[in-house]
Amino acid sequence: MHTKDVSVNGTLVWYYCICKREVWLLAHGIEADQDNEFLEIGRIIDENTYKRDKKEIEVGNIKADLIRKEGEQLVVGEVKKSSKYKEAATMQLLHYLNTLRQRGIDAKGRLFFPEERKTVDVILDDDAIQKLEKMEIEILKIIYENKPPKAVKKRFCGKCAYSEFCFA
Ligand code: SF4
Repeated sequence: MHTKDVSVNGTLVWYYCICKREVWLLAHGIEADQDNEFLEIGRIIDENTYKRDKKEIEVGNIKADLIRKEGEQLVVGEVKKSSKYKEAATMQLLHYLNTLRQRGIDAKGRLFFPEERKTVDVILDDDAIQKLEKMEIEILKIIYENKPPKAVKKRFCGKCAYSEFCFA
């Protein structure tokens, strides 16, 4: 893999917070099990929730679920199935906000957990920018390794589309 082939996107940031092995597998194009039921539930929620507002936006390597104007404030939203992985979802959204900031666009983030009828606002501050920069370097380090990090059982494995690949 060549350095020019790789840029850190929101999906990689999300998985970095969940499983570093998955970052490597995704970045190296290893196919996950597409029949995994949790992938399917995620797709259904994604297709049916907040349809009214849904304007998927792409800016560079950003693909966010929602974008709204609230007065003068631009709000970028991500819809998630559950708040169980809120930390990962927050970092993914911060990555989007930071990418927009680098293009001169000031936006605020909001996480939507429709099944829990909950929303959480996400603000990009200096600490978050520093944390993201460190995380991006760590993600690139993982990707440029020749082998993925070892499979280590964790809470997420039961739902992961790579579980057969890792633990068969
Ligand atoms: S099954 Fe577990 S260890 Fe393997 S990629 Fe998924 S989360 Fe990571």
